[in-house]
Amino acid sequence: MTDNATTTLSLDEVKELARSVFVAAGMGEQGSEVMAELVRMTERDGPRSHGLRMLPVYAQSFSSGYANPTADPRIERVAPGVLRGDGDNGYYQITAAKARDELIAMVRENGIAAFTCANCHHLGALRFDTGPLAEAGLVALGVVNSLSMVVPQGGIRPVFGTNPMSFACPRPGAEPVVWDQASSMVALMDIRMAAAEGHDLPRPAGLDPDGQPTQDPSAILETRSLLPFGEHKGAAIAFLIEILGAALAGGTLSVDNASREAHGALNIKGGNTLIAIDPARFGNAAFEDYVQRVCAEIEGNGNARVPGDGRLQNRAATQADGVRVTADLMAQLRELV
Ligand code: NDP
Repeated sequence: MTDNATTTLSLDEVKELARSVFVAAGMGEQGSEVMAELVRMTERDGPRSHGLRMLPVYAQSFSSGYANPTADPRIERVAPGVLRGDGDNGYYQITAAKARDELIAMVRENGIAAFTCANCHHLGALRFDTGPLAEAGLVALGVVNSLSMVVPQGGIRPVFGTNPMSFACPRPGAEPVVWDQASSMVALMDIRMAAAEGHDLPRPAGLDPDGQPTQDPSAILETRSLLPFGEHKGAAIAFLIEILGAALAGGTLSVDNASREAHGALNIKGGNTLIAIDPARFGNAAFEDYVQRVCAEIEGNGNARVPGDGRLQNRAATQADGVRVTADLMAQLRELV
């Protein structure tokens, strides 16, 4: 359906549009399927700042030579509980999709296992990295570092990336609990969107050129200095992700990630770690009851919700009503096909 300003796409149409952009950008069948499904799930659940809007960024990362559209990732089991990936300079999600079944088998065997990946790019929401593991009955923690943009508490110079983390666990009788969050007060893509839409951010989220906290997205994009969430506590989480992501995986540290500039790219090369746990192997037969109990204490508790459950409402709405895409974005995407 189309009116003057927007087109409404079904989720299947979203996926087909995304797939055609990836194929036109030189990706093969398997890679474009993984990435198009990611765009479909992102438009379905949110955050929409990481869905169709990212397609020009993906396409540019290939046309500039920064990322490899025909990546052929390698996976190697280096210890009973450690699976290492090399993304062949392609997108992480393609390597992770290739590694998933082996990681799950290792977790079932050992109780706990980790997958690390270097030489790869990560764009988009982390929840789609951990969610499939929770759907398999596992608990999962995923992290990725990125490009230095977040200042340590009290600092004036960025050290950490917006370094997101995601946690997921099965929930009896319901969709798994899956949440993901950036280490910055506000995700970079949301700052870009606020600048494009011409409004301030709801709270100070970065430094202005005088080193003062500001709500002005354009000033923050100028300094490229974002504040961590929760002051020193968020900065500590960003530190953890730098070590668990870049250092453990052998990916690029956020402070060393300037090479994208030469390609004019917006995506980032970093290191990913995904830790998966089989609760059935940890000896608490009532694990699921504990999850249910904690969720029950949150639900119906004033306006509180289980973290990540907002996406389930988005999902129901987009499955019923489709996705509205602005005429500008549609025009931009058609040029890429
Ligand atoms: P948000 O602050 O919007 O949300 C963080 C988490 O909290 C979500 O799981 C959200 O899920 C949940 N949440 C939000 N409000 C509430 C509430 N009132 N009660 C309970 N839970 C709540 O996310 P960010 O801005 O920090 O990150 C945006 C996205 O950007 C993420 O998907 C992240 O993975 C991605 N990202 C990716 C990067 C990359 O390099 N690939 C870099 C940085 C970020 P819900 O609203 O569904 O309940």
